[in-house]
Formats: sequence, C-alpha cells, structure tokens
Amino acid sequence: MPPVTIRDVQTILTQPAGARLVVVKVLTSEPGLYGLGCATFTQRCFAVQAAIERHLKPFLIGRDVSRIEETWQMAMVHGYWRNGPVLNNAISGIDMALWDIKGKQAGMPLYQLLGGKCREAAAVYTHADGRDPQEVAENVQRFVAEGYRYVRVQMGGYGGRPGALVRPEGAPDGAYYDPRAYMRATLRMLEHVRATVGEEVELLHDVHERLQPIDAVQLAKDVERFRLFFLEDPLAPEDIAWFARIREQCATPLAMGELFNSPHEWRPLIEGRLIDFLRMHISQMGGITPARHVAAFAAMYGVRTAWHGPGDVSPVGHAANLHLDLWAPNFGVQEWCRFPELVYDMFPGTPEVRGGYMYPNDRPGLGIDIDEQLAARYPCADEVEWWTQARLPDGSPARP
Ligand code: MG
Repeated sequence: MPPVTIRDVQTILTQPAGARLVVVKVLTSEPGLYGLGCATFTQRCFAVQAAIERHLKPFLIGRDVSRIEETWQMAMVHGYWRNGPVLNNAISGIDMALWDIKGKQAGMPLYQLLGGKCREAAAVYTHADGRDPQEVAENVQRFVAEGYRYVRVQMGGYGGRPGALVRPEGAPDGAYYDPRAYMRATLRMLEHVRATVGEEVELLHDVHERLQPIDAVQLAKDVERFRLFFLEDPLAPEDIAWFARIREQCATPLAMGELFNSPHEWRPLIEGRLIDFLRMHISQMGGITPARHVAAFAAMYGVRTAWHGPGDVSPVGHAANLHLDLWAPNFGVQEWCRFPELVYDMFPGTPEVRGGYMYPNDRPGLGIDIDEQLAARYPCADEVEWWTQARLPDGSPARP
C-alpha cells in the first residue's frame, strides 16, 4: 500500500479572544484526512506564518505522514540554524498535526499512542488577580467554590502595579514596574491570602522573571512559609545558573520553562534537580515530539510537568497539553485560561474543565477541529504589543 503523504499545508491565523493564534492544517493524500497543530507565537505570528508557507511547506509536500520523528529531526536541522522561537513554533504546527493524523488513522485518542492514560483527567490551576490582597483572596475563594484546588495568585499583574513611581524627566511611555516594590507587595498579598483561604488551597505565583537574581533568591526564601505549590520563573533563562543559589537556601518548589527554546536550557536544570516543574510552551519547544522526550527524561529525575496553558496557546495546543498530561507518569498540574464560548464554537472539541479537572473527549487524534469560516471572521490585528514594553522606574527597558 503506498504511504499517505502530505498534500498541502495551510496556516490559519485568528484572534477570537485577545491573543493572535496560529493554527496549522496538514492535508493528506487521503481524502478527508487532515491534522491540526498549534504554532502560536502571538507576538510574531506573521513571521511564523511566513516560515511555514515559504520554508516548511515546500520541504514537506509529498512526505510520508507516518514518519513523525524523522520529519521532526530533519525539519529542525535542515534550516541549519535552529532552536529559535519562530522556527520551533512553525515545526510544532506540523508536528502536532502529524500526531493528530496518526491518531485518526489508528482510530485512537492521542494519549493512547503515547502509552495510555495514567489518570482520567488533568488537575488544572487558574489565575486570580486583584487590586489589593483582599480582592485577590476573594477571587481565590470564588474559584475554590467552582471546584478549583489550585489557584495562581498575582496582584496587579506581572511585577505588580507601579504605584507612586518617580521617573526621570523625559522618560518614555511604557509598562512601568518597580521590582523591589513588587517583592514587598507580593509578601503582603500572600500573607493575607494564605491567612484567609487556609492551608488546603494550593497557591502558585509567577515572578515572570521580573527580579534581579539575588532578589529572586530572597523572595524564594521569604515565601517558603506560605507553602506554595510552586514559584514560577523566579529567574530569566539568562540567569539559570542562579537556581543553585535558591536551592541552597529554601525548599520553595520552583517552576520554569515557558521561554525555553533549546535543550541547553532545560537539560542542566533537570539533571541538577534544580527545578521541580517544567513549564514549557509546547509549540515554543517544537511540538509534541520534543515534549514527549523531555517529559520522559524529567521523570527519571523526579521533575514534574506543568505545561504552559495561557490564552496565547491555541485550543489545539491546549488539547496537546491535555493528551500529554493524561499519559505522563510525572504530570504535576496544568495551567488553564478559561476560554470564552466563542472559542468553543470556533474550535469544536476544545477541552472542558469541570470541578477543577480538564477532561478529554474520546475522538481520535487530538480530538479537536476548527470552524474556518468562523475563524476568518476574527482576523489577526496588525498591532504592536504594549504590555511587553516593560520599563524599570528610571525608564530603562526590562524583561516583561
Ligand atoms: Mg508564566
């Protein structure tokens, strides 16, 4: 029997709920058989589109859809320069679509191809924010009443609200924050939230790499008494050598990874048992194929998964997260962004969350589809991202 081959690759850009999403559709030589993948790099979505249409598509047409691993390995090296966010996302779109196709060919949900379920559903966490500690605590209690047992707590977004900043004369506009004021406010917030909601709610917090390394060490020590489920991105990828300093000082569980591009970034942290949770954005690391490899590697070291799951992961990417969650023996928790109804209409089969758990459907492959006509009614805007134009109090550029 001749192999089923790739007949066409289409890139679908849509913006139904804030973030610009990139979804790839791989069509095959078998009529009606296609797969979907997530290639969402929301801030550079048009660059990913060009990488797929102009570079990957000519490389892929006519290839055997069954050879996922070989296709991934060759796609990663045949541009010679590798491990960057644009190309990793582009490759992910293809990789997830090929896994989706394989599941459809087998008549099985993807988690079956990975090795079957370790659990019936994935425990999720969602995001509580607020203007003051009281409002954060109220929002945590609202989610707990809905059945969530894990809640991420922030106050005033990443880095907090700037308050009474004194900027130099002539300082440009931007998303200002004060790292040291953010540290102090976060401790006050956690103190109040823990005292209000009690010990039974698992609390998480995302530093979003907003601190100087030594301040991150101090914060990790200071929050130890609040028994967080994890403290996320206390350090930037450029500062990962500082994780050892945090480990020497406290037992606060650490999560890291949404910005990772390359095995050089995650391998030493896993081998050194310097973090506890992997937060990779599956499309950003290149798709299900590398995620499967790193999950198995991390399992050997007692490091758990907590894949990135905000609104700038497409529902196709959330479905990929879920299948990995159901399979991985070392699953920890799954981030969940609570999509509005429109997204469920646009992406039939989007995973459903009930009582703090995300459930799969029993359709083959990723179990998700896209209404392309509806997606076309919400085109991606040409816009310059604002929140990522972060600045320190003196106006100098900072990591968002
Ligand atoms: Mg994060």
